[in-house]
Amino acid sequence: MSLNAFITEETIEGADDGPLAGTTVAVKDNISTEGVRTTCGSAMLESYVPPYDATVVERLKDAGATIVGKANMDEFGMGGTTETSAYGAVKNPVDESRVPGGSSGGSAAAVAAGEADLALGSDTGGSVRNPAAFCGVVGIKPTYGLVSRYGLVAYANSLEQIGPIGTTVEETAALLDVVAGPDPKDGTTRFDRDGDGDATHPAADADYAAAADGDVDGTTIGVITDLLDGADDRVVDAFGAALDTLRAQGIETVEVSLDSLEHAVQAYYVIAMSEASSNLARFDGVRYGQSGGYEGNWNDAFARAREEGFGEEVKRRILLGTYALSAGYHDKYYKKAQDARAWVKRDFDDALDQADVLATPTMPVLPPELGESLDDPLQLYLMDANTVPVNLANLPAISVPAGEADGLPVGLQLIGPKFGEESIIRVASAVEH
Ligand code: GLN
Repeated sequence: MSLNAFITEETIEGADDGPLAGTTVAVKDNISTEGVRTTCGSAMLESYVPPYDATVVERLKDAGATIVGKANMDEFGMGGTTETSAYGAVKNPVDESRVPGGSSGGSAAAVAAGEADLALGSDTGGSVRNPAAFCGVVGIKPTYGLVSRYGLVAYANSLEQIGPIGTTVEETAALLDVVAGPDPKDGTTRFDRDGDGDATHPAADADYAAAADGDVDGTTIGVITDLLDGADDRVVDAFGAALDTLRAQGIETVEVSLDSLEHAVQAYYVIAMSEASSNLARFDGVRYGQSGGYEGNWNDAFARAREEGFGEEVKRRILLGTYALSAGYHDKYYKKAQDARAWVKRDFDDALDQADVLATPTMPVLPPELGESLDDPLQLYLMDANTVPVNLANLPAISVPAGEADGLPVGLQLIGPKFGEESIIRVASAVEH
């Protein structure tokens, strides 16, 4: 039976030669592919065919990869189970009665099932790490600014990064080597100057695949105790066992606590929904999206295009985001959320003074049954407690398989300092040993 991992199955051949020659890659359907439709999991964009490639897609092609299709996802990236897709839910290949996680659920399921060697997802608040954890594969959320966002259809632009998914840490890191780098087309991609005044970028001197050498003796890991409290005991046990294998390899663990994390989920959803309400304003059936072809005044035409084109979760977020930004409420919600974001950043800086990398279970729960979590959005938002703080702080994180509980995969999350991808890749590779 098909997992429904792809919305569009179409082969895009890359260059004859390159580091990814002979490798198949699934690309999340919110990443633009020239001439191949890009729906964002939404009925609104059912027939949208981008006239250009995202920078990461150009880089895949130049590296010789073969793109095998556009991967299924929660509508516009809004969700954690891939059940909000207008193209139907994706099944978890490990247990087909369960969700693959989300929102990059199609990307992770395709890799876990061997339908693609590697995949690209996007991570606004956990959407690469969450499905990687639930499907038993590896996923990296890069530091904000490491990878170009040009051609990624925006959900919450200040939070999201495109990230790689693979079956091993080294292969996933090798895909990061291909997609990371400066991009003159995207002002949010990091741009530095070296001592001679020449343009440079944090990826210029990095070799992410080579960092997967398992050489962790003497590394200190800070275990974030605040994020263990509410987690499922079976997840905490698997997490503890993974830490034991790391200690046996010469890693020291210390406990760290970040008071701000209590407010991270609230702050994340206010910011993400506010940005979404603005980013999704362009889908009105005139500039972008299905029009429905209505007569009458423009206000009615826009409203009806949006009523028909958007699903329930997307509408909920546009309404809440518009409310949070409206005059009179802006200071009460949006400004407060920005203050909390700054606090989360400071707390991570302090914690990373005490340890080289930080660790948590990627998800506090095991993958839910299909249909189980849909009617309780708040429950779904709380599932993001361990992943969203990383996006608020713009930091890099990786999810690596850390064993199983009741036959279901558990992910270990490692969080690094800004542009410290090599450190988290190194420790993650030791988890595999
Ligand atoms: N589950 C989170 C949300 O719905 C994260 C989604 C994502 O990273 N795209 O916002």
